[in-house]
Amino acid sequence: MLDRRQLMQLASVVSAGVWLPRSAWSQTRWSSNPFALGVASGSPSHESVVLWTRLVADGLRALVADDITVRWEVSHDEKFRQIAVVGQSIALAQLGHSVHVEVPRLEPDRWYYYRFMVGDAVSPTGRTRTFPAPDAGVSKLRLSYASCQHWEHGYFAAHRHMRDEHLDVVLFLGDYIYEYAAPSKAVRPGGIHWLLTLDDYRSRYALYKSDPDLQAMHSACPWLVTWDDHEVQNDYAGLSPGDKGPSVASFAARRAAAYQAFYEHMPLRASVMTQALEGLGTGAEMRIYGSVPYGRLANLVLLDGRQYRDAQICTKDGLRGSSTYNPALCAAASDPQRTLLGVAQEQWLDQTFSRSSAQWNVVAQQTVFGQRDFKRGAGYSFGNDGWDGYAPARNRLIASMLRHRLANPVILGGDVHANWVGHVKADYANPDSEAIGVEFCGTSISSNGGTNAKLTEHLAENPHFVFADRERRGYGVVEITPKGLTTTLRVVDDVTRADAGISTLAQFTAESGHPQLQRTL
Ligand code: FE
Ligand code: CA
Repeated sequence: MLDRRQLMQLASVVSAGVWLPRSAWSQTRWSSNPFALGVASGSPSHESVVLWTRLVADGLRALVADDITVRWEVSHDEKFRQIAVVGQSIALAQLGHSVHVEVPRLEPDRWYYYRFMVGDAVSPTGRTRTFPAPDAGVSKLRLSYASCQHWEHGYFAAHRHMRDEHLDVVLFLGDYIYEYAAPSKAVRPGGIHWLLTLDDYRSRYALYKSDPDLQAMHSACPWLVTWDDHEVQNDYAGLSPGDKGPSVASFAARRAAAYQAFYEHMPLRASVMTQALEGLGTGAEMRIYGSVPYGRLANLVLLDGRQYRDAQICTKDGLRGSSTYNPALCAAASDPQRTLLGVAQEQWLDQTFSRSSAQWNVVAQQTVFGQRDFKRGAGYSFGNDGWDGYAPARNRLIASMLRHRLANPVILGGDVHANWVGHVKADYANPDSEAIGVEFCGTSISSNGGTNAKLTEHLAENPHFVFADRERRGYGVVEITPKGLTTTLRVVDDVTRADAGISTLAQFTAESGHPQLQRTL
């Protein structure tokens, strides 16, 4: 297993541009396309971006081979005539022959093209960008937020349409894969078995990554990624397993395998793995939360609401996992010790808020932030898996935003396979308290939603939310300028068709300094 020193070496070999020894594989004539999983870029800063690919054998199978040296090129133009930087990197057998190039010393606020080469094989060309310098004035940021792409529930047509949105970055907020065995009803054939081992998780990522629309969107712009539960197991919390599927001898080992596979398939920096716990494997703990400035215009914060959380409370019949609960009958609901982000991440987030001088502060995380009471009239019924199951922790996050007078908070989420649009309240228990920010929880790319039958009632019960829809699949686009924010909810016509069209479900605006949503479409 790789240790911290080896991982740092891996990252630094690339940045030093040292020419690595060529293995026999580096010169091979490939009988199948080793780049069948496509290319991706992500984790951008103003001076660097991560380029990703993973070499596979015929049929998307893992390669049986030693480490392989891969060449890469970064260019100013699509035809690779104006080369910016070239280098080599190692596709480590131990990391599934994945490649993570941390390209250093790029110019800020600039688009680049990139590709990989190994033997006689050349990868598809990807397009990526650096962010503006932290002190730069910026006139516009366009990002999308997306989550929940259950393969068997539908096609990824949403990703094909996302290519036309002229995005600077995609924020993917969890459930990139699902760990389930094949469902009885599938829109398209997919995985067969429950994911339990590293090989299982690798092959599921390979299946998802084989989708041409998903590949196309990865090659269009950089992504910032976090995870939710299904990258490991439904409803897991920290080191407590979820409730579905076969149980394993060691959930910690299963989680470590799943985390490693996540790293192997995402454009992440090697530094996310440097806190791996001795003896538990590379992915034992993975620090994927972080923040990055987009000039002075915006700070993008990405949170991890799964790895460090306390287990769900007051679940029905004493089972594990998620359910609704009545806070009047659930003493644990008001326990201030319970946490969704963990102590270290909470402190880091508070410091991040205290230091931010950005005009807009985007907080991207996995689930619905605002309170949703599903019981009509007196009394409450809350979900226990989202922030409603961790209300004191939510109050601490709100208090932190207020204490540091965080400018223009924008909370993005996913998880619930439905669009929820609303105002972030200073105090959800007091409907008259001020709105301190706006929230957009996105629908799923393809995962099953629900019906809108009870939504009018739910919105009336929770007036800080101004819009909800469970029936449509898609993504959201947020455009931020110094003047204001515009969020457009984009939805596909028919998730059961790869060639589905796209349309706008609704659009909302808010002016800078004035968190009041106006519906404009
Ligand atoms: Fe999901
Ligand atoms: Ca109620």
